[in-house]
Amino acid sequence: MVHLIDGKVLAKVREEELKLEISSLGYTPKVASIVIGSDAPSLLYTKMKQKKATDVGINFEPKYFSSDTPYNELVNFIRKLNEDLEVNGIMIQLPIPDEFLKGKDWREILAEIKIEKDVDGLRYPDSKFLPATARAVLSILDDEKIEVKNKKVIVLGRSNLVGKPVADELINRGANVSVVHSQTPNPKEITLAADIIISAVGKPHLVKGDWIKNGTVVIDVGTSEDKETGKIVGDVDFEEAKLRASKITPVPGGVGPMTVISLMENVLESAKGRN
Ligand code: NAP
Repeated sequence: MVHLIDGKVLAKVREEELKLEISSLGYTPKVASIVIGSDAPSLLYTKMKQKKATDVGINFEPKYFSSDTPYNELVNFIRKLNEDLEVNGIMIQLPIPDEFLKGKDWREILAEIKIEKDVDGLRYPDSKFLPATARAVLSILDDEKIEVKNKKVIVLGRSNLVGKPVADELINRGANVSVVHSQTPNPKEITLAADIIISAVGKPHLVKGDWIKNGTVVIDVGTSEDKETGKIVGDVDFEEAKLRASKITPVPGGVGPMTVISLMENVLESAKGRN
C-alpha cells in the first residue's frame, strides 16, 4: 500500500519548530525581497513568502521596482542591503523581466547579492545556502526517514536551483546518483533501476507508471499547468505511479509547502550566523 507524503503536515511541524527557535533568538531576523515588474505569479509568490515569514516571526520587507527602473538604481539598492547589518537575507524574485534587463544577463544582478545573504541559494554553487527547493526535497527524505546511503537515486533535471543541488547533496550523503536531463536517451531504462526517483523537470506526466519499479520512493518537484484542465500537475503520472511506489509526494501538497519553510530555515541560519 502506497504511503502519500503530506508536505503540508511535514511543513507544519517544521513551522512550529522554526517559530520556537526564532522566538528564542532575542532579535527579529529580517529579509528583503526584491520584485521587478508586475508578473502575477511573482507577486503572488512574494505575498505567500511574506505571510509565512510573518507567521514564523521573520520581518519580511518587500521592495517593488517597475521594469523601467534604471539598472544602477537596483544595483545600488542591493549593495546597501549587503552592508546593512540588520538585513539577514536578500531575495530577488525570478524571472527578472527582459524590459528591465535590456539584454543584460540576469545572473549579473544575482552576483551582486553577498553570498552570506543569498538565502534563496540563487548563486548556487557559490551561495552559502542550498536553494530552498533542494533543501525541501532533502528535508522530506529526512522527515520520512528515507535512507539514501548506497541507494540508487535518479534525479530528473539538472537546473542550478533544483536538480543539480539535490544531486550534489545526495552524492555527499553517500547515494549512488544518476542525473537524467533533456538529452538523456532512454530515460525509462534508467529510472526503472531507481530506489528513489526525484523529478524536477516541469513536463506534465513525463514519468509514467511503467518507468517505476515496485517499491520506489517518488518525489515529484515538477509543477506545470495541465493545458486541458488548467490544474497544476507534477512531472509524474500520479495515478499510475501510486500503484507501484512505496511512498510518493502529490502535486500540489508535496514539495511546494516544504519549499517555503525551507526558505525560512535558510533565513534563520543566516540570522544565527550574523555574529
Ligand atoms: P528548469 O530550470 O527549466 O530545468 C528543467 C530541467 O529539466 C533541465 O535540466 C532540463 O534539461 C530537464 N528536462 C527538460 N526536459 C526533459 C525531459 N524530457 N527529460 C528529462 N529532463 C528534462 O526548471 P527548474 O527551475 O529546475 O524547475 C523544475 C520544475 O520544478 C518546474 O516544474 C518548476 O515549476 C518546479 N519547481 C517547483 C517548486 C516547488 O516548490 N514545488 C520550486 C521550484 C521549481 P536540460 O538541462 O538538458 O535542458
